[in-house]
Parts: sequence; C-alpha cells; structure tokens
Amino acid sequence: MKTDILSMTLPELTSAVEALDLPKYRAGQIYRWLHKVGVSDFSEMTDLPLLLRERLNDSFVIFSCNIEKKLVSEYDSTVKYLFSLHDGEFIESVVMKYKYGYTVCVSSQVGCRMGCRFCASTLSGVVRNLEPSEILSQLYAAERDLNVRISHIVLMGMGEPLDNFDNVMRFLELITDENGKNISMRHISLSTCGIVPGIKKLAEKDLQLTLSVSLHAPNDTIRSEMMPVNKKWPLPELISACKAYTAKTSRRISFEYALVAGRNDSEACARELAVLLKGMLCHVNLIPVNEVAETGCKESKPEQVKKFSDILSRRGFAVTVRRRLGSDINAACGQLRRSAEKRVKETT
Ligand code: SAH
Repeated sequence: MKTDILSMTLPELTSAVEALDLPKYRAGQIYRWLHKVGVSDFSEMTDLPLLLRERLNDSFVIFSCNIEKKLVSEYDSTVKYLFSLHDGEFIESVVMKYKYGYTVCVSSQVGCRMGCRFCASTLSGVVRNLEPSEILSQLYAAERDLNVRISHIVLMGMGEPLDNFDNVMRFLELITDENGKNISMRHISLSTCGIVPGIKKLAEKDLQLTLSVSLHAPNDTIRSEMMPVNKKWPLPELISACKAYTAKTSRRISFEYALVAGRNDSEACARELAVLLKGMLCHVNLIPVNEVAETGCKESKPEQVKKFSDILSRRGFAVTVRRRLGSDINAACGQLRRSAEKRVKETT
C-alpha cells in the first residue's frame, strides 16, 4: 500500500522524507509542488532528480480527481464537475464566480447517510468518507482545469462534513496552510445538517470559518419529517449547541432554509422561525428547494419566498434569498453521480 502523500502535513512529510534518507529541504519542495502548484503526478516535479521522482512514486500516491463530466452554465459560467476517484467512485464539485472571486463547493463523502428527504446525495446512502487529499484535490483539479485561483470554499457538496470530522479538520489544516494554498479560514463555510456533538467539537477548535446549519424547519414535527437527523438531535439541543458555538467563537451562524411548497413555507412557519432564532447572532439563507424527481419536493412560488423573507426581515433578521447560479446545469447536487452510477451498473 502506497501512502497518501497529499493528506500529509509538512512536518509529517518532512519525517517521511528523512526516513527515506533524503535531505529535509526536499520535503518543502515536494509540498510546494503538491499544494501550491497542485500537480497530480510526481513526473511534474521537474526540479527533483528523476531518480527521486521514481522513488517517491514507489512509496507514495497522489490522489487526484479525474474529470468524468464537466457542465458549464450558459447563463453565468458556473461549472459543475463529476469527478472519478482512484477506486472508481464518483463525487461532484461546483465552481461559482462571484464579484469577490471564485468559490468551490466541495464534497466530503461519497454519498451521505443522513437521509434528508429532499436531497439527491443521500438517496442510496453513504459509500465512504473522503480522505483529506480527496477533498483538497477537488479544488486543485478545478483550478487546473479552469486556470483560475479559487479563493473561497464551501463544504456544501455531497456528504455530511461533521460525519467525517477528522478528515475534514485535516483538510482545513492543509488548505489554510501558508506553505500551501493558504486560503483564509474566513473564506471557508462548513455546512451541517445538525450533528450536535460535531458542532460542539468544532466549537472547541475555535476556527474563524462560517458554520452553516441546515435548519429547513421551524419546529420538531416538520423538521423530523424532512430530516431524520432531527430525531436524534431535536431543535432545542441543536439551537442550544448553536448558541454555545457563537458564544465560544463569536462567529455568526448562517441558517440554511430550503423552501418546499406546502411543507415549510407558510407565513406561520416564518413567524415560528423568527421566534426560534430570536436574539441569535445569525443570518438566514432562504433557498427555493431544487426539485429532485425521487423526492417529490416542489419549490415554493416566488411570491411565497418573498412573503417568508419579508416576515423575517421585519423582525430584524439578516435574510438573503440564495441566487440561483447554474440553474440550467443544476440537476440538484448529487444527481450527476446518481446518473453516472446507474450507467456503470447498466453496463456491468
Ligand atoms: N450535509 C451538509 C452539507 C451538504 S448539503 C448539510 O446538510 O448541511 C448542502 C446544503 O444543500 C444543505 O443545506 C442541504 O440541506 C441543501 N440541500 C440538499 N438538497 C437540496 C435540494 N434539493 N434543494 C435545496 N437545497 C438542498
């Protein structure tokens, strides 16, 4: 078994290099190629002697994402990738262009086991966690392909980041490392469906990232119907963990709320939500749900979205209605992988 070199920190790589009887400075060179340049093969490390590149290739592997499919929106240049991994699994990532720069939305798991009723990523459960290297290489592959520098990251692709806690923490350590891509923690958002022990553990780390919590409902009855995770950690526990998170980190939490017609988008729901979040340092992000055929969820009408948003704004909440980027290629997150897996199954 070769070692996953892209998941190693610089000190770990330095020890590994020394164990191979190589001078220490080689570690810095290799790390720069891996993380600053983002190469996917040792042969690209052109300032290393050929023999050394071969030795590295014998001991280590660089996990990279191969582009299986790339969809570019005609409206706003949003790019959606279907990547294949070294074991033939598929994941999705999206690159969006905003005024402040490029943002990549990365996956943290192959599939997901959280079972949210409206979500395509979870329809066939979780296959496995992604390694830190596999989360990183989504960004590296996209930067290489588009020839741009990505400055912002959202962990909002497939999977539940707090269900893959250690690998996600290591990913954060590597991506913010000044010897690597050096992305600011303040430019990173991590989204969770509400794993309370994970939120508590994250609070202890006291990071400057933005925590997004997928709320989607103002009470336990509706939330448990939409999100099975709520049965384990109901709203009182979740909200109290969020308050503790803000107390510890002084960071504003962003609550995500996908509006599903007739389910959670009534004016009564908006008022109940305002009571639930009263007094919290937070932001509410409303998202008309992406319709996924298998889920039967229908998106709220624009006038309903407006009413919902107005009720919250009038009560003093910072509210945004998420801009729909790449709506022509969207095939709501998780759907590209589903169709690819189906194709593989049909042909084997
Ligand atoms: N597991 C994490 C992160 C991945 S999902 C989480 O649950 O937060 C990223 C966001 O997309 C979450 O807010 C999720 O609830 C939302 N989402 C999933 N399916 C959706 C859909 N069909 N329409 C709109 N938002 C959706």
